Amino acid sequence: MSSVVTQPMYFDTASTTQIAQEVLDEMVACLSSNGCHGNPSSLMHQPGRAAAAVVAAARKQMAAELGCEAGEILFTSGATEANNLAIQGVALAHAEQGRHLITSKIEHKSVLETCQALERQGFDVTYLTPNRAGWIELEDVKNALRTDTLLVSLMHTNNETGIQQPLEAVADLIANAGVLFHVDASQAAGKFRIDLNSIPIDLLSISAHKFHGPKGAGCLFIRNRRRLKIQPLVFGGGQEFGLRSGTLATHQIVGLSEAMHLAASRRDADFFHVVELKSFFLERLAMQIKIKIHGDPRCCSPYLVNISIAGISSDALINQLLNDVAISSGAACSSGTIDSSYVLRAMGIDGDDLYGAVRIGFSRYHTISDVLKAAQHIVSAVHRMQELD
Ligand SMILES: *Cc1c(COP(=O)(O)O)cnc(C)c1O
Repeated sequence: MSSVVTQPMYFDTASTTQIAQEVLDEMVACLSSNGCHGNPSSLMHQPGRAAAAVVAAARKQMAAELGCEAGEILFTSGATEANNLAIQGVALAHAEQGRHLITSKIEHKSVLETCQALERQGFDVTYLTPNRAGWIELEDVKNALRTDTLLVSLMHTNNETGIQQPLEAVADLIANAGVLFHVDASQAAGKFRIDLNSIPIDLLSISAHKFHGPKGAGCLFIRNRRRLKIQPLVFGGGQEFGLRSGTLATHQIVGLSEAMHLAASRRDADFFHVVELKSFFLERLAMQIKIKIHGDPRCCSPYLVNISIAGISSDALINQLLNDVAISSGAACSSGTIDSSYVLRAMGIDGDDLYGAVRIGFSRYHTISDVLKAAQHIVSAVHRMQELD
């Protein structure tokens, strides 16, 4: 006896995205028997040098897309590691000069928990509160700066709400104060143009699987890497300029750079596509049920929306939709617990709005018909739940 299990439609793209065929093809070619199996650090022989050349080309590609030098890109296992290395690496290497860091209450756990670990080691961290629109006020950053502040860490685009920070103004302010600025760009890289040549960001984290690359791949941009002191977290063979030991995962690096290249080459088309998807989706929902959008839509990424539906809890809705539409109530690492979203709470959202919040993510691979179907599934689920009440 066999039963056909149909996959629900996938709309949790803020959590992760499907790999692009182009990326997969490059990775498979790299991993195949006549691919690139040498160790990129073994420069005594041809297979090693061939792998080193592939890594160098990927580094150059990433740098070209981001407007920086190839030597400023350090490959990691993803944004969690990049965030850890940026924040701990800077703090531990500069502890003699200062012990104060600034971040916000709406950062990803890989930033927040890294800061908390540093607090246990004697560092002092200011956690800024966002306004109701979902972003951090410039004035608050300014007021939090101290003479012993080493680093400010703020995200580009929030992974629960899609709200984007006014980064250019913040970056200028922080640069003028002579403080280092780290940006978690996991939800922005590939999707939005980030020109490191024109914006004074010192450290920037990227995760490949948020823009149709492989999981377990990412990078950290480090401006003036030769001059900026960073304490490594992983010791060993001295790969990645001595800052991140371990044999380089050639195929992952190829996947990251191919995903970046692909995203950059179709950035505008993808952007206008998701703008359209999001507006069709919200329009279709709003015609039939009462929804509330969290965060100011004018500062929101079109790749994501966070909504509550009157009288409906997120857990119940997600369960009703289980076979039809995969969506989530927040960050993957914290869902599974019944905790409400700390991001929305920090924005001052409470009560039913807080417990009903779900996020829906759009991607280049969704069609208008997909989003209309998803909206219809949600509407039917809500009607079913209202009848049960
Ligand atoms: C996904 C994500 C991360 C973690 O990235 P990984 O590559 O999965 O470690 C960090 N910050 C934000 C904002 C994210 O969305």
